[in-house]
Amino acid sequence: MPNTRLRQSVKPQRSPKGLFIVVTVVIAVVVLGAFFFLNPQKEQPAQRNGKPATSFNKQHYSLSDPASPWLVVNKKRPLSPLTYEPANLRAPDMALAAAATNPSMQMNAEAAEALEKLNTAAQQAGIELVVVSAYRSYDVQKRVYDSEVRGFGKAQADRESARPGHSEHQTGWAVDLGAANGECQIEPCFGDTPEGQWLAQNAHTYGFIIRYTKDKEPITGYQHEPWHLRYVGTELAAELHRTSTKTLEEFFGLPAAPNY
Ligand SMILES: [Zn+2]
Repeated sequence: MPNTRLRQSVKPQRSPKGLFIVVTVVIAVVVLGAFFFLNPQKEQPAQRNGKPATSFNKQHYSLSDPASPWLVVNKKRPLSPLTYEPANLRAPDMALAAAATNPSMQMNAEAAEALEKLNTAAQQAGIELVVVSAYRSYDVQKRVYDSEVRGFGKAQADRESARPGHSEHQTGWAVDLGAANGECQIEPCFGDTPEGQWLAQNAHTYGFIIRYTKDKEPITGYQHEPWHLRYVGTELAAELHRTSTKTLEEFFGLPAAPNY
């Protein structure tokens, strides 16, 4: 009991020096107590939900420049310019549905390199993937969209295919992948195949996201497309995964884009 001992040693003298020591000790105890009491409270807002505060900078790359890996293009955010063409396209070195010289097999070089790493990891896990469709120019996208409209009507075409100038495929940042055995190619059931499941679980490690996820049509404007991968870089893909955020629109606080 330090207080009792202090009082006993101070009592016989009753000197100002003894009183000074008592007051100093009391002040020190109060200050230290206040410090330890208040400090944990200060840390609480930064560690809400048990997740440490993050220094992720959401302004690091442009969301409007088509050459930016963080570009957000949707039915409300057309490409600028509308006829944008990426500069450095090349086919990834992996199984392709057409010749490597065919522009539809090509991607932005950075995305192609990342896709090669993804494919190597997939193969090590016994997953055989194939590039079904990657880059589409404005003119090709126009043909695809017009054909969808002729076949299924405008409303259905808008759920499945982007209008020219509004597609991720036109940027070189997107790729449609399939299983080498052709199972469920460009069909919702691809999500249930081993290939689709491996992609959903592992794509973020290589900088890709499943851009059009289940139940997010009111935000992205598209039905679930488990085959459509979008390259955003490993930093953003990891942050989206860490925070369980399913769409770029929600992550960056952009308006939902269910329609044009
Ligand atoms: Zn696609």
